[in-house]
Amino acid sequence: MKDVQRLYQHLYATERWKKVRVWMLQQAGYRCRECGNRKDLECVHKVPMDAVIQSLQRKGQGKGNRMDAWQVEQLFFDLYRLHILCKACQRNRARIPPSMLLAEQERAGII
Ligand SMILES: [Zn+2]
Repeated sequence: MKDVQRLYQHLYATERWKKVRVWMLQQAGYRCRECGNRKDLECVHKVPMDAVIQSLQRKGQGKGNRMDAWQVEQLFFDLYRLHILCKACQRNRARIPPSMLLAEQERAGII
């Protein structure tokens, strides 16, 4: 999948993302899942999309181990892969290596 960054930009700008984001915020009770903060909330992927895609491609998913745009879009909007964090918790989580985040997701049966 070339131009995957451009695809993410496109997906973040869709009406579908706006709806998903609001729905996720409502489900979270407008609180950060880590610290309960009510400010600076963002709907983010639990594991960075690039890491998810690379992991799945390694496991042989996607045509010829390459994902097409449709598959990336399904992953992008998968609600189980999203959560609500405040900016501070998002920054903390960004320091965790993606491989550890992936392992956490695998334990939870999401990947
Ligand atoms: Zn927080």
